[in-house]
Amino acid sequence: MSGAEGTGLIIRAAQFSAWKHRHQRRKSQAAEPYINHPLDLAHVLWFEGKVHDPTVIAAALLHDTIEDTQTTFGELQGEFGDTIASLVMEVTDEPSVHWRLRKRLQISRAKGSTWGAKQIKLADKICNLRDMVASTPKGWSIDRVRNYFDWSKEVIDQIRGANPLLERKFDSIYLRRP
Ligand code: ZN
Repeated sequence: MSGAEGTGLIIRAAQFSAWKHRHQRRKSQAAEPYINHPLDLAHVLWFEGKVHDPTVIAAALLHDTIEDTQTTFGELQGEFGDTIASLVMEVTDEPSVHWRLRKRLQISRAKGSTWGAKQIKLADKICNLRDMVASTPKGWSIDRVRNYFDWSKEVIDQIRGANPLLERKFDSIYLRRP
């Protein structure tokens, strides 16, 4: 992929994701537009994790489209190809299972996931913890935030070695656990 092709792919993914998430807001007190979150992941990956693979950046921008919007795997496959659609699938929780099992599955499946999916997971957890430190999500108790921190650490502990730069960033935000 040339530099221009990579940039084009990233712009297409950002635009597609912004459209899909257009009616959604984050759970923070300020209820920022949802798209801030995928953009944060892309920023963390590129500038903090030194992940410069356009495929991974595009998948990060799209990472919540299947889980949180009406987007289907086939639609992503058609728009962005197999690799990106599969990466998004890898970081999508199974919607039909109970949330408690979903959380366990994320831990048990993390180790076997691809390099790209591990990068996205790292960035996702870093961004979510940073958001929670900045502002407790609406309706969340301190215990719920603490459980989220601990569960995130369990996921990240499964994939250590995937990106030491991002792991250090994760560890430093984990220290801010309330
Ligand atoms: Zn996310």
